[in-house]
Order: sequence, then C-alpha cells, then structure tokens
Amino acid sequence: MHYVSTRATSASAARNPQRFSDILLAGLAPDGGLYLPASYPQVSGAELDAWRQLSYADLAYEILRKFATDIPDADLRALTAKTYTPEVYRNARADEPAQDITPLRVLEDGAAGKLVLQALSNGPTLAFKDMAMQLLGNLFEYALAKNDEELNIFGATSGDTGSAAEYAMRGKRGVRVFMLSPHAKMSAFQTAQMFSLQDPNIFNIAVEGVFDNCQDLVKAVSNDLAFKARHKIGTVNSINWARVVAQVVYYFRGYLAATTDNAQKVSFTVPSGNFGNICAGHIARMMGLPIDRLVAATNENDVLDEFFRTGVYRVRKPAETYHTSSPSMDISKASNFERFVYELVGRDAERTHALFRKVETDGGFDLSGAPGSDGDEWKLVERYGFASGRSTHADRLATIRDVADDYGITIDTHTADGVKVAREHMRPGVTMIVLETALAAKFNETILEALGSDAARPPGFEGIEALPQRFTVMRPEVEAVKAFIAAHTGL
Ligand SMILES: *Cc1c(COP(=O)(O)O)cnc(C)c1O
Repeated sequence: MHYVSTRATSASAARNPQRFSDILLAGLAPDGGLYLPASYPQVSGAELDAWRQLSYADLAYEILRKFATDIPDADLRALTAKTYTPEVYRNARADEPAQDITPLRVLEDGAAGKLVLQALSNGPTLAFKDMAMQLLGNLFEYALAKNDEELNIFGATSGDTGSAAEYAMRGKRGVRVFMLSPHAKMSAFQTAQMFSLQDPNIFNIAVEGVFDNCQDLVKAVSNDLAFKARHKIGTVNSINWARVVAQVVYYFRGYLAATTDNAQKVSFTVPSGNFGNICAGHIARMMGLPIDRLVAATNENDVLDEFFRTGVYRVRKPAETYHTSSPSMDISKASNFERFVYELVGRDAERTHALFRKVETDGGFDLSGAPGSDGDEWKLVERYGFASGRSTHADRLATIRDVADDYGITIDTHTADGVKVAREHMRPGVTMIVLETALAAKFNETILEALGSDAARPPGFEGIEALPQRFTVMRPEVEAVKAFIAAHTGL
C-alpha cells in the first residue's frame, strides 16, 4: 500500500512512493496536496461477516492493517488494543455498554424508517476527535521511539481539537504539545479541560487576542522553515491521513452493529465542518461497505451544503463565517474537501490542483455543468451517495428539546444539527445512523437555553473548573512564542 498526493502527477508519484509511516507525521504533501492511498483496499462479504464478531479494537486492527502495511501486524494489534478500551472510552451514558466503544441507541423505529445514534464521544474529551487522536498519540509514540526521534506538536485551538490532541499526547515519550488558545475566550469547561493538565510535556499558551491571532502565530512560525526543522515542529490538524483512516473504523462498526446481514444498507448523517469525518465514511464506502447515503449536516456555515445542493464550492470570508452554537463546525472552507474532489474528477491531479488554485484566486469553483462552469462532475455526487442539509440555532434548540422529550436523552448542539438533517433524509427500510460528535456537557450554555436545566456531566468532570490550572499568558508576538518553544524543547 502506498500513498499519493491529490496534486501529484503520476510521474512524480511513481518516483516518490510514500508508505503509511512516511506520511504519519506529515501534514500537507510538499506539493500542497493531501495524501490518499493509491487505491482503496477492498473488503469482501466473507470478511465483513467475520468482522461481525470482533471487538472494536480487533476491528480497528483488521481495517488499519490494510492501510498501514509497513507496520508489523503484532505492533499494530498492540497499538489498537491499547487504544480502544472501555477505560479510555469511559464516558458512556449509564445505560450504554462502554465495551462497545461506539454504542448505538435506537431513537425511533417507525413508518418513516429507523433512526439510530452512534455515540463517538465517550473518550477523554467528550468529542469524537478522541476516536482518531487517541490512536494517533500511540502511533506517534511508537514511530518516534522506533526512529529515536522527538516531535513538538504546535497548533492553535478554539476548543475541541486542542484538547483532544493534549489528552492523546499527554505523558507520551518523545512528544511535546505547544497549544495556543485565545486568552479567556473559550468556555470555562473547555479551558478547565485543557489547562488542568499537569503533564510536563503539555504547554498551554493563552494568547492575548482572538483565535485568528493564534492562527496567524502558527502560520508565522510554520513559515520559518529553519526554526521548524531545528525544533522538530509538527502538527496534528484534521488533514492528517492517520486521523482520517482511524475514523473509517467506526463506519464499519456502526454498519455491523445496526445490521444482521450484508444485504442490508444503512445511511449515515455526519455533522460536518472540515469534511474529515464524512470523508472517512466515503472511504469506507469505497472499500465496499454497503452505505446507502452519506448526508453532510452543516450549521449556518453551509459551504458544504451549498456544494452538495448546487455544485458550487464557495469558501467564505472571515466576515461571512458565523460564530454559532455548534462552534466546532464554524468553518469558512473545508480543509479535507480536496480528497473528495480528487475522486469526483476521476483522480485527475492536475485538474484537482487547478480547481484548488482557483479557490485561492477566485474563492471557489463551480462543477454544476452550467454554462461557463469549471466542469459537470457534480452530477456524480448522487452516484457517490452524497446528500446534505443545514440547520440553524433555532433548529438546534428545537431538536435538543424534541430528543429530550421523546427519548429522554440530552444531545449536544452538533449532534442536534445531525438529527435535524437526518430526519429530512430518512427512507423506509434503510437505517439512518446519526454520528454523535460530542456530549452535551461540553456545550452547556445552549443546553440551558434549550431545556432550562444543565446537561449532566459524566462522573469525574463535576468540579473540573476548580482544579489548579497550568498555562502561560503571552502577547500575540511571534518572537515571544518562538522563544518559549525554544526554551522548552532544549534543542
Ligand atoms: C470537529 C467536530 C466536527 C466536525 O468534524 P469534521 O471532521 O471537521 O467535519 C463536528 N462536531 C464536533 C463536536 C467536532 O468537534
């Protein structure tokens, strides 16, 4: 198994074959593209049948070994066994079997079809990003130890990604995390989650400014190639291939848990921002998983919904990017979308590159097939099984109330976007699985608004705001950030 960039010519890809371990610690390919496997491994019906009996960890092993062919099987089995345990994914609701790792819950089973929730948020930070990030932490530690290397992860966060990265990397040998966040701008819960970590390899930097200042600092440091190389700076953003592939596993798991034989089809509705999560669903489908439809649910930041409805991909300007009550989906462009567009244009790297150059110069492209458009591949979206919908703050409040009234559980705001859109795409005879991407406790302000009472917190999170916090406040100055990193890497 080797990997190609979405922008690589076939000649350059052939000259420079990449293995899983080569791209594990990489972000973008050097040509600015994203990595994908040269072809998708196929899963047979017999294999799928055999996988029905497996634990989550064993299923993860079976799927990952098809992609990480350069990691010895025994090592991969140990890594997945260590990652997907009920102890790590311990924040299951009281009536959920924690050993399932991503337990399913039937919400309704009526004339309109069956609606099921798949809980992906039972990990340490109560959001689905733990599903991939926890594996990444173990894979990084393994790969770094093997090569006797070190890595300093540097990033900016407005909430979910930073905490998932810190909880995945805490205490890992060879890895340090330097995470910028806007000082006093995150929710009290999110701040406490990150800043209460006392591990000596985790560094929280609270920047006096907003999230954009943090991102500018990351860009400025990343552009200093000499500094980056000397201090072994890397990232764990959502375009990392290993994160995407770890997410493929729970689509298989959801399918197998919701069906009894492989003639049945299911659909998934995925609360979407950067297109990482749903991209993993697309890959599962390309591997042969019988998925009927993949439905992208967006909030008011509806770049993706617009594309799937019209064929026009139009990235938003900062002023058109709204701060919503499902903040982890507040994106102006979808950083993983290039992976799907590459497939849509028949894996034509030159065409892909041209389209994304147009995103830089003209703010988007149009594949609707209308006169003057850039192509007509949007017509294939249906064949790829994609659909979409959007949701608003009022929809979220109404959906959170409905689900609490009808089924007695409190869902978070992102999952509410998913449930709202899923209901518009149900089909009799096809189970619709909504991916639950966070637990309600993380977004309590909106739960309070919707229900008039607080979201329940999983055991162990009761008083986290009162724990001692460890962080450094800094002005938004590149030299100050660099000096801090240099002082703590000892390189
Ligand atoms: C990151 C995130 C999303 C969006 O996932 P993408 O992979 O960026 O599409 C949705 N919900 C929650 C809670 C998240 O943290």
